[in-house]
Amino acid sequence: MMKSPPRIYYGNALVKDITNDVVFGPQVRRIAEYYERVKATPALQVSNPDLGGEVTSVSYLRPTGRSDLARIREGWEVIYASYHGYVGRSPDYIDNWTMVYGAHSRLLSDLYGPRIGENSRRLYEESASQGRFFTHAIVHPQYDRSQPPAKWDDPFRAIGVVEKTSEGLRVKGAAQVCTAPNAEVVIYTPEIKSDTDLRHALAFAIPTSTEGVNFFPRRSFYPRGESPKRDYPISAAFEESDALLYLDNVLIPWDNVLAYAGASSTTPPVDYRSMIGLDVWFNYHFAIQNAARLKFLQGLAMVAAEAIGVNTKINIEQGIGTIIRDGRIVEGGILGAEDEGVNTGYLFMPDPGLTRAVSYYCTEALPRAYQTIRQICGGLLLPIPADPSALANPEIGYKLTHSLETKILGASDRVRLSYLLWDVLDSETAMRYQHYDMFARGDLFQTTASLYRNLDPKTKDALLFPIREVLEGMKE
Ligand SMILES: Cc1cc2nc3c(=O)[nH]c(=O)nc-3n(C[C@H](O)[C@H](O)[C@H](O)COP(=O)(O)OP(=O)(O)OC[C@H]3O[C@@H](n4cnc5c(N)ncnc54)[C@H](O)[C@@H]3O)c2cc1C
Repeated sequence: MMKSPPRIYYGNALVKDITNDVVFGPQVRRIAEYYERVKATPALQVSNPDLGGEVTSVSYLRPTGRSDLARIREGWEVIYASYHGYVGRSPDYIDNWTMVYGAHSRLLSDLYGPRIGENSRRLYEESASQGRFFTHAIVHPQYDRSQPPAKWDDPFRAIGVVEKTSEGLRVKGAAQVCTAPNAEVVIYTPEIKSDTDLRHALAFAIPTSTEGVNFFPRRSFYPRGESPKRDYPISAAFEESDALLYLDNVLIPWDNVLAYAGASSTTPPVDYRSMIGLDVWFNYHFAIQNAARLKFLQGLAMVAAEAIGVNTKINIEQGIGTIIRDGRIVEGGILGAEDEGVNTGYLFMPDPGLTRAVSYYCTEALPRAYQTIRQICGGLLLPIPADPSALANPEIGYKLTHSLETKILGASDRVRLSYLLWDVLDSETAMRYQHYDMFARGDLFQTTASLYRNLDPKTKDALLFPIREVLEGMKE
């Protein structure tokens, strides 16, 4: 049992023992397995120079050059191969964010004062040393997106500072989605723009067991039957709870504040997340996750096509070829971003533009792959029969076996494949992951539009130059 568990209300009931809970137990065990794997796998460890050579997870490495970046990628490839590209909230994800905060403690100190700068360094070093599991929240509730929360009937529907005291900030309000409420620490880091109300312009990290922190998860998609792994292999292995986070007058001690525009009268609200390149890191991580999922989908598409003998049809070959192409583009993009990486003076990071582009590309490549596999399968993906033990039933077994087996697959194998296909493409978990793929990077319209909106002037000039030249040359 966790020493100080978070307050998670599943429906009406407070979850008393998350490690043995029917909904959270499997998720807690998966996280425990992650830490065991890190301990047992040299590729996932590093002698961390920022911690005087202490051995930490590779996700805590602050890269100072290309080879460090490659080490991080290779570590994440090992992790995400084991998840087949699933699991958005594996600990490595936010471990890496703490490194990014820690690496920029000087910059944060310049913005918010030395105490807050120091907090980010301590957050990084303590997390790296202890290997703490984080959840994160960045999005305000969807009360009314036509206005910022400060203009809502109650500005504290979104997390905001109700009182600034000598001990810290007292905050109140909600954040819309916080996956993995079973974590030990929650980091809250919403978007801050120059016009953000000071009450909402803050970031912090606190233990999830802090007084006043409440999580309200959605319905569980963990399989309800007696044989979860057999019936829903993806849901059983990779279900992650998404929760609403509600902070009920929580005191955030000053030592836990990572950004606060109201820290002094001279601190304006600034988009510090962009200044520390946080989105570059999460897009790099998404791209690596998604490259692993695209690999899994390539294999699945081939197995499905070959199972029913459609694999030599040109349309099916083209479909599978497209998934292979997309997979290679993503893998190439990740390596390219690494190759073109930049030293910012704080750390060495993957090329921002390329990292974003390849990550956003996945939001088209993955749905395309799902659609292709659906197209290949036809009825193959329907999980018939309702219970696979029916295949051994003396009365109906033969009828089922004879009708379900394919030229190359016995009936049991075919049924296992259909169950897997359903869970990848159409179950509740499948749909939740597909929604996650659309929104995990933020709103796709805005993020993709930002590639144009935030294009640096030099790159833009280089693109416009030949057009101007051609237009000039057309003058009589
Ligand atoms: C499965 C899942 C897990 C998630 N886990 C986490 C998590 O662990 N932590 C976390 O912080 N977040 C998490 N998220 C939330 C995710 O970060 C948000 O869903 C995402 O940022 C989009 O924000 P939103 O849901 O508020 O949508 P909105 O921003 O409200 O968008 C809704 C629609 O309105 C449109 N829209 C909104 N504003 C504008 C505008 N200004 N101009 C034009 N169109 C606009 C959008 O294009 C979109 O079509 C998760 C989401 C999902 C689906």
